[in-house]
Amino acid sequence: MTARPSDCKTLAAPPWPGGATRITRVRTILTAPEGTTLVVVKVETSEPGLYGLGCATFTQRALAVVSAVEEYLVPQLLGRDPADVTDVWQSLQVSSYWRGGPVLNSALSGVDMALWDIKGKQAGLPVWQLLGGRCRTAVPVYTHAAGTDPAEVADAVRGFVEQGFGHVRCQVAVPGASGTYGAPGAGRDGRQVWDPAAYLGTVPRLFAHLRAELGDDVELLHDVHERLAPIDAVRLAKAVEPYRLFFLEDPLAPEDLGWLPQLRAQTATPIAIGELFSSVNDYLPLVRDRLVDFVRCHVSAIGGLTPAWRLAGACELFGIRTAWHGPGDVSPVGHAANIALDLASPNLGIQELTVFNEATLEVFPGCPRLAGGHLWPSDDPGLGVDLDEKRAARFPPTPPLAGDAWTRTRLADGTVQRP
Ligand code: MG
Repeated sequence: MTARPSDCKTLAAPPWPGGATRITRVRTILTAPEGTTLVVVKVETSEPGLYGLGCATFTQRALAVVSAVEEYLVPQLLGRDPADVTDVWQSLQVSSYWRGGPVLNSALSGVDMALWDIKGKQAGLPVWQLLGGRCRTAVPVYTHAAGTDPAEVADAVRGFVEQGFGHVRCQVAVPGASGTYGAPGAGRDGRQVWDPAAYLGTVPRLFAHLRAELGDDVELLHDVHERLAPIDAVRLAKAVEPYRLFFLEDPLAPEDLGWLPQLRAQTATPIAIGELFSSVNDYLPLVRDRLVDFVRCHVSAIGGLTPAWRLAGACELFGIRTAWHGPGDVSPVGHAANIALDLASPNLGIQELTVFNEATLEVFPGCPRLAGGHLWPSDDPGLGVDLDEKRAARFPPTPPLAGDAWTRTRLADGTVQRP
């Protein structure tokens, strides 16, 4: 029934009358086909066979997300019309009064992406069509090269270039301090030990070697993972400037962003920041003042496709490009949401690639397809990725804290080092 203006005094609150389809069941499904716990939300409806999937993966606190979904969001969702994507997002976001944070936003993201998936299935269109259609044929991606020394990294990059990649992230082991991905290595007593001075000396030598060996025909990226003191981040960004990085990622921790204007004033090295942000509003000062070249954003951590699409639009208006986070702790459903944004945004910068293992491909039929350094869009309605629950059950979630070594780094004297 369509409301008339004269009805305004008596209009009902949601669930509004009208659409016949209702949300009948909402569940979280945990699976770890690659040893990393993924959290997927499944929203089922009153229409037989119509359901949606969303990524709610916050692998370090997966069980807290499950609780947020099942104990707090489910009671607010049952009986709602899944078509009301924006209103559901708005109402769930404020329903805890103290909103935001990665736990609540990951839970919200799982629901939000699932509702977009349902809307696409109802329309018979892929989500990227609902966002305005494609701006490009396929999505350029960067992959990851690492090695124990610069020569090994150069060999890895050459191999990727031969496969068609135009962008490669390069990380190298720091002698005595770091594993090959630039992560801290096991030091004395098996502790995760980090040596900022050794890192600061090693990285510029890596990129000098890569440019000398590879020339200018490949775009190179590097991730600092917020592990430097602010003035050392400024020094690193200046030191690698001659080697023309595509971007330097997270040179500053969220707590040190007051240093960003000083860093920007001193170097033309392009900067990508934002992986650890957990609210779309965190990006606004950086966008408004044009302090970054790329927003680096974990879509599920800010609440899903709905806020990410708004962020992409804000960035476009300020001349800033997107580089959505695409690691192994984003489910294939979340990667499909990234690709929908990538296809529909004129201001895509680059997309991070995860190469799925065989188990993941079996658990998630319809995983995005890689060819020639690009991800190719699916024309399937919705997000285009399904979940085989029986196969998912063969890969139970890892125990809590099992993957947290990454966040337990210390300096050689025992001081806690931020990741
Ligand atoms: Mg990163």
